[in-house]
Amino acid sequence: MTAMVTLPDIEEARRRIAGHVVRTPLMRSQALSRQPGAPVFLKLENHQETGSFKLRGATNASLCLTEDARSRGLATASTGNHGRAVAHAAGTLGTRATICLSALVPANKVEAIRSLGAEVRIVGHSQDDAMREVERLVSEEGMSFVPPFDDAGVIAGQGTIGLEIAEDLPDVALVLVPLSGGGLASGVAAAIKERQPQAKVVGISMERGAAMAASLAAGAPLEVQEVETLADSLGGGIGLDNRLTFAMCRDLLDDVILLSEDEIAAGIRHAAVVEGEIVEGAGAVGIAALLAGKIRPDGPTAIVVSGGNIDPALYRQILSSIKTGVA
Ligand SMILES: *Cc1c(COP(=O)(O)O)cnc(C)c1O
Repeated sequence: MTAMVTLPDIEEARRRIAGHVVRTPLMRSQALSRQPGAPVFLKLENHQETGSFKLRGATNASLCLTEDARSRGLATASTGNHGRAVAHAAGTLGTRATICLSALVPANKVEAIRSLGAEVRIVGHSQDDAMREVERLVSEEGMSFVPPFDDAGVIAGQGTIGLEIAEDLPDVALVLVPLSGGGLASGVAAAIKERQPQAKVVGISMERGAAMAASLAAGAPLEVQEVETLADSLGGGIGLDNRLTFAMCRDLLDDVILLSEDEIAAGIRHAAVVEGEIVEGAGAVGIAALLAGKIRPDGPTAIVVSGGNIDPALYRQILSSIKTGVA
């Protein structure tokens, strides 16, 4: 029996995090609605507090802790949207957060996390070194680790996006979800498959270094080499000891689509120029998959636009070039 997060967990998460997170809009895209009977909608998590959906999972996981555990503080090791979400959740829930980072993390990212009121601890020269410090904070100081994706509370929190989509678009036929560690895709698919069983849920990653896609193809969690990509929030592994998200993605996703860097850049530009939305690479992959013709909606479609935190210099470069990649 595969351990799964199910609809009641997600409904409970929704009650728990209400008031701490934004119920984001589902906006119809005129430009992407090209087939009759197949309107396309954007679920705008770039409008979420902290600029990404990660706040949902981080807030739910933190609220699942006992009051005593929460009061001893939250710890994690992410430089990106998850670190930002944990720092913000700690502030709104009245506790403290320690974010462990390696010395390689750029100063502006360190400052961004500090400015949310979290303590930043610089340790070692790799993500593994930073994670070892998190483990020490947990075992020696009793702090609580908030994992980025492979955690029932995190998955249920991300799944609240699926509940909102099913409510706003009851006849949804297709949901496109960005896919990295799979917390988002697992939660959204668990909610959608129960609320609207005939709807398809498709995960989308970049061609460069997609660990979940490679693991699903191999039938077991795999390590892949991490490479630079415009969808930087989709980088990183799924953990060789993955407990939940590998099995949930394997059992619940109908398909996985991979995108080139040029396709992702086109998605970012479309979001900006046509939809008027600032969207980071990871958040633009659903739009990009439609634009690239890699999937054709044949019914009402919801695209999860997962975040908007993009480096300003990179953003200007993408918007000012007709074709661009990282290289
Ligand atoms: C973390 C993240 C994802 C991927 O979420 P997973 O749960 O790791 O699959 C997608 N988009 C953005 C903006 C993110 O920050």
